[in-house]
Amino acid sequence: MIRLEHVTKVYEGGSVAARDVSLDIQKGEFVFLVGPSGSGKSTLIRLMLRDEGVTRGKIWVAGKDITTLPKWKIPYLRRSVGTVFQDYKLLPNKTVAENVSFALEVLGRPRSVIGPQVEQVLDLVGLADMTGRYPRQLSGGEQQRVSVARAFVNRPPIMLADEPTGNLDPKTSVGIMKLLDRINRTGTTIVMATHDFAIVDAMQRRVVALEKGVVTRDEHSGRYEQDQG
Ligand code: ADP
Repeated sequence: MIRLEHVTKVYEGGSVAARDVSLDIQKGEFVFLVGPSGSGKSTLIRLMLRDEGVTRGKIWVAGKDITTLPKWKIPYLRRSVGTVFQDYKLLPNKTVAENVSFALEVLGRPRSVIGPQVEQVLDLVGLADMTGRYPRQLSGGEQQRVSVARAFVNRPPIMLADEPTGNLDPKTSVGIMKLLDRINRTGTTIVMATHDFAIVDAMQRRVVALEKGVVTRDEHSGRYEQDQG
């Protein structure tokens, strides 16, 4: 579903954020990218979205080589990939329902399809009774639920999440993780960058650890820290 082959990313100014990274992520996997701040987690997410181009190497996402994808085709790539970020990125002047339906409107879906799909996904994330509220009228956890709903409303095969619990307290974070787990169980491949070791340890999914842009560990059912001894 996602494949990185000898990917290196050197930013302008010379910092090497990914160093010869190779990864194979199968359909339906849940993968944590862990590591200290500056280890290159966000960079890998941005490379998979073609927010940034690679310096060397190849990346395939949903069957396509995205490193050679012409710019005008990037929006088509994004249809296959839902995204969730630490800061929610909701439109402040749109209601919960509008924030989610907007994602389908830009894809040119007919109204008759949009209405039921939005209702269904808001039900899934537990916000069925808040559809008319504006983001400022929601807690952080609720705002993140809206952003998960928006990412998933189109049922993309892949979801990329960059520190989705970074602004949330532990209890609220567990709720968001339960939601991502449910979405993953529908067959959606999820890659999540995080430095929240409690979540990683509780979920027992694949863990890819980064240090200074290098993959130092790749374990199935892993923990945040390597087991000692
Ligand atoms: P993480 O998500 O693990 O905190 P990042 O991917 O954000 O790590 O950063 C990896 C390295 O790349 C860091 O040294 C950071 O300073 C550098 N970096 C990130 N984004 C840029 C950028 N746009 N321009 C230059 N350097 C960057």
